[in-house]
Amino acid sequence: MSSEAVKPRVRFAPSPTGHLHVGGARTALFNYLYARRHGGTFVLRVEDTDQERSTPESVRGILDSLRWLGLEWDEGPEAGGDHGPYFQSERRELYRKELDRLIGEEKAYRCFCTPEELAERREEAKAAGRPLGYDGRCRTLDDAGREKLAAEGRLAAVRLVVPGGETGWKDLVRGGVSFQNDQFGDFIIFKSDGFPTYHFAVVVDDAEMEITHVIRGDDHISNTPRHLMIFEALGRPAPLFAHVPIILGADGGRLSKRHGATSIGQYREEGYLPEAMVNYLALLGWSTSDSRQIFTLDDLISEFDIPRVSKSSATFDPEKLLWLNNFHYLKLPPAERAKRLVPYWERDGMDAGARDPAWLEKVVEIVGDRVKVLPDIGRYTEFFFRDVEPGEAEQKVLRKAEKVMPALQKVIARFAGMDPFSEEAIEKAIKEEAAAAEVGLGKVIQPIRVAVMGRKVGPGLFESLELFGREKVLERLRAAFPTT
Ligand code: GLU
Repeated sequence: MSSEAVKPRVRFAPSPTGHLHVGGARTALFNYLYARRHGGTFVLRVEDTDQERSTPESVRGILDSLRWLGLEWDEGPEAGGDHGPYFQSERRELYRKELDRLIGEEKAYRCFCTPEELAERREEAKAAGRPLGYDGRCRTLDDAGREKLAAEGRLAAVRLVVPGGETGWKDLVRGGVSFQNDQFGDFIIFKSDGFPTYHFAVVVDDAEMEITHVIRGDDHISNTPRHLMIFEALGRPAPLFAHVPIILGADGGRLSKRHGATSIGQYREEGYLPEAMVNYLALLGWSTSDSRQIFTLDDLISEFDIPRVSKSSATFDPEKLLWLNNFHYLKLPPAERAKRLVPYWERDGMDAGARDPAWLEKVVEIVGDRVKVLPDIGRYTEFFFRDVEPGEAEQKVLRKAEKVMPALQKVIARFAGMDPFSEEAIEKAIKEEAAAAEVGLGKVIQPIRVAVMGRKVGPGLFESLELFGREKVLERLRAAFPTT
């Protein structure tokens, strides 16, 4: 490398066989941050060589989730770029060309062994305590031998000639790592169905796309020696590798569905903010020296770097994510909060989108920090939109209101003549009538709350009543506490 540092090119390479999950999103984020921090390029490559399990819906979902998180890619699907196509399924000719070159250079060879034969010989090797990798039987076939096997109708896979010795690298996260080559044997790089293996496609693509840094989950560590051997065989320089630590659930097992939501789409559904998600994902295996917890995406771009990625596993803590969600929610200006809440209101049948934005903003302000995840908004504000059927606990409150009925009727009478119907005047009237009737304030407030809101808990009563408006408040109070 010259003193003029080469701009990094990194990639996120999801297999579109499901949703974008927490681990994948964290890998995407680290790559994105690394590229942005160092003025490099973030490539998105779709690894859809597994024809059976890859789906267009999954591709769509992954792209949507990445965009929702704010992780725009510079090259890839829907972005274009000079190194396309960015779907592996459209790059088969290239893999084939590279494969033929390796075969021509005798760095790879056709193997006709059937799965049954391989299994049998593996058992023998096991019993004899020999390495379990491929025994190299087809490595020394000549043309005639190959023709004979092909004539038997056998399909050929292609294997890489794996040299003896060991393969190692200096991992940017884990330091020196090395593996004995004999544990891999001559592994398959092209399957008999005419598709490259993951290992071969990844390496050809990383080489062709001029990837400088491979940042990926450490479940890929044992793949890396194979990848290095393929780079070597192709005569292409290998990128640097950074294997980021595994993410565990609270019980110490690898993070999975049994720990709750793992897909980014599901968190979105459940009302988490992308700001909170990104903040939380960044802290899964990375930290600053002062253990700072709160970051925006821009903060992360200026702070993130690989040397501070941890070698040890990260534990996913849903409570912390929830806390961050509430924090980032409160950091948004009320108008923005309202905008983000509208789809969640509407999802629960409240026509927030049709309401005056200034009014919605006030509703949001009244609810304050009670919203931990966005769908919480419905529970606290439903009464603004429609009548709420009181539950059993609420009906009990209404029945008990009999005891304070005179005070309630006085409050209703005062509300009727109240102008302006303001928070202060409402509070004053309720407090005075409770005091005059010599009953606890709560005993008057609670039935009013239940009568208007249909619930025992909700936002501050006085301000809510003001915002709801005098006529509507009176209507609900009169319905709950008729005078006759
Ligand atoms: N497609 C691989 C996966 O989804 C990632 C390959 C890589 O990062 O090298 O696990």
